[in-house]
Amino acid sequence: MGRALIIGAGGVAHVAVGKCCQNSNVFEEIMIASRTKSKCDAVKKRFEGGGTKISTAQVNADSVDELVSLINSFKPDIVMNLALPYQDLAIMDACLATKTNYLDTANFEPLDTAKFEYKWQWEYQSKFKAAGIIALLGSGFDPGVTGVFAAYAQKHYFATVETLAILDANAGDHGYPFATNFNPEINIREVSAKGSYWENGSWVETEPMEIKRVYDFPEIGEKDMYLLHHEELESLALNIKGIKRIRFFMTFGQSYLTHLKCLENVGMTSIKPIEFEGKQIVPLQFLKAVLPDPASLGPRTKGKTNIGCIFKGLKGGKEVNYYVYNVCDHQECYKELGSQAISYTTGVPAMIGAMMLLTKKWAGAGVYNIEQFDPDPFMEELNKQGLPWKEDFNPETVL
Ligand code: NDP
Repeated sequence: MGRALIIGAGGVAHVAVGKCCQNSNVFEEIMIASRTKSKCDAVKKRFEGGGTKISTAQVNADSVDELVSLINSFKPDIVMNLALPYQDLAIMDACLATKTNYLDTANFEPLDTAKFEYKWQWEYQSKFKAAGIIALLGSGFDPGVTGVFAAYAQKHYFATVETLAILDANAGDHGYPFATNFNPEINIREVSAKGSYWENGSWVETEPMEIKRVYDFPEIGEKDMYLLHHEELESLALNIKGIKRIRFFMTFGQSYLTHLKCLENVGMTSIKPIEFEGKQIVPLQFLKAVLPDPASLGPRTKGKTNIGCIFKGLKGGKEVNYYVYNVCDHQECYKELGSQAISYTTGVPAMIGAMMLLTKKWAGAGVYNIEQFDPDPFMEELNKQGLPWKEDFNPETVL
């Protein structure tokens, strides 16, 4: 049915390739292209042999020219950007130049400022519309499935959604004193930034980790969680009409936070270049180089993740509370595809988003956030593709 060009060969791309190959009726042919071709070849080796034909290529995804010639030679129906947020705009430019659909899992972030927002990508709206192609932004879990959950809640259970709390819990244990579950640079930039949430039409800013709650997660138990700014808050504040408050919480253990504080205090999380032995280095990039590679955590990580959304609102004049969530087991993911649950919960929705566009279940032209499409076919695929969801109409609410 279609051809996908997958850019990046890290943890998320590994899962997305595995899942595309399980759906070879939709993904007839894929190309994996990344900075280091040997990593693309390793992913290909693991998953080739089924119905999906796989090829690989080397590409510098910061170069629009290189991307354009690669797209022109492979002629994909969609480009799945599973590299890093810094590459989003270059890849979108290449998609525009070649009139090819685009998908990503994280919004653009300039390399020299730890500030991610949709502004830069939303500016492509009229160009994508005029070119008759789609850019699907944020097709991971959060952002991604959380937006689909929000659209589903709104479509089926609410006249008005008043509040939304997104809860992201990881009870996985990898046995290292300190490691991050996905790209350490992106992860540490996210958690060391100020927090913020949307309330009554404007943003409220908090100090990093200022707001803490304890939540008793289904299948995981009680965990400390902290309010963070997170990218889907920005689009959901616009797309869930009339919403009064949206907040995002992520769980962190005390040991992780103590390590992070210490690294921050000694300057290791800084993104300002410093001179070291005559060379410019960025402390955070150096830290990434000495931390365990997230891909190596797969075989060691035990436990589960639970990510979901708790909504409160009204239907027929009555108050409705609704919690929808997915629980994912690190070891099960590793058994199936050789990755831990963080990569799995991102790579599966990336594949489903691409599937929605290739099968034309989602169609249009322009730049879209995921909650702008009909959630039903996506929700159906989550159940089939390894991320089943559960509902609770009487959840513990978040204060
Ligand atoms: P990894 O660091 O494991 O992989 C990134 C890949 O991109 C690597 O293969 C890397 O190449 C490649 N890459 C980086 N820069 C370039 C470049 N200039 N040109 C070509 N290739 C490049 O990251 P993850 O797989 O963990 O994450 C992938 C994306 O998913 C990130 O954007 C992350 O923010 C996002 N994410 C989204 C989540 C969600 O729920 N929405 C959750 C988790 C992650 P090399 O191997 O050579 O370094």
